[in-house]
Amino acid sequence: MNTIPAFAVIGGSNGFRLLGDGATGFTDIGRIRTPFGLSEPVFRKEHTAVPFYYMSRHGVSGYTVTAPFVNYRANVYALKMLSVKSILSWSGPGAIDTSYTVGDFVLPDDIIDETKYRARTFYENTGLGFIRQNPVFCPCLEGFIVKVVKRAGLTLKKGGVYVCTDGPRLETKAEIRKYASYGGSFVGMTLAPEAFLARELEMCYRPLCYITNYAEGVVERRYKSGELFEGMNDAGEKQKFEYAVSKLSDIVTAAAAELDADSGLLSGDCSCRMSMERYRKRGDIDAKWWKHLSPGNKRTLR
Ligand SMILES: [Zn+2]
Repeated sequence: MNTIPAFAVIGGSNGFRLLGDGATGFTDIGRIRTPFGLSEPVFRKEHTAVPFYYMSRHGVSGYTVTAPFVNYRANVYALKMLSVKSILSWSGPGAIDTSYTVGDFVLPDDIIDETKYRARTFYENTGLGFIRQNPVFCPCLEGFIVKVVKRAGLTLKKGGVYVCTDGPRLETKAEIRKYASYGGSFVGMTLAPEAFLARELEMCYRPLCYITNYAEGVVERRYKSGELFEGMNDAGEKQKFEYAVSKLSDIVTAAAAELDADSGLLSGDCSCRMSMERYRKRGDIDAKWWKHLSPGNKRTLR
């Protein structure tokens, strides 16, 4: 039995470009059939000391699955089936706080979930899942991601609150003012419920974000038809955005190299991996409780 923790990167917008951008050594192991439906295709990186997987959240041939229609439960469950214990999630939000600029790489430390229409838990009808969310993102992965970003030759801003909206439409000016008043630093559409689902299955999860644009009303931009975000980015910002996106390949390669250099890096105890301990102690679930989960949970979890 493999006791080394498995690791996965979930790629966000433009994540489908990764394999064409020079990230080599991946084998397509296909979509995984889960009780929650089919996952997006999973790719296994070969010849790494730590089992390493890559999944493109929005599909592999383009932006074919927009954020509200991603099957987050199937994707996260599929990684659990592959014995993944730690997930680095890649996504590209827009800046609300102008201390972040387009092209920055950031390590958010909190989230405000503004989504309303997504399947958000594995624990329907179970009485389970009353789980603390501070810290909401894995504290143990921070040091690892800092090393990875450095190895990829990039700089990182730590901290910031990610506001997650449903989409696929972008936000209004008034909504962005509201999120700013909440203390939101940037706004995107993908980390919720993904982060919460990973915690429900006792997996470590940490997002690494790149800033794609300024959120609506943060800077004044003329409306331009037929362009990405209809003119929210000027020419210089488009270049920075494209540069940041292109670095996913380097980050994935650096993550594999970092894990190869220190295969024990992610093997320590982390509170994320004990999130269901209270229910286990209480006898509500067994050691492999997650194998019994299903939509609606008609079956027992023991
Ligand atoms: Zn953790």
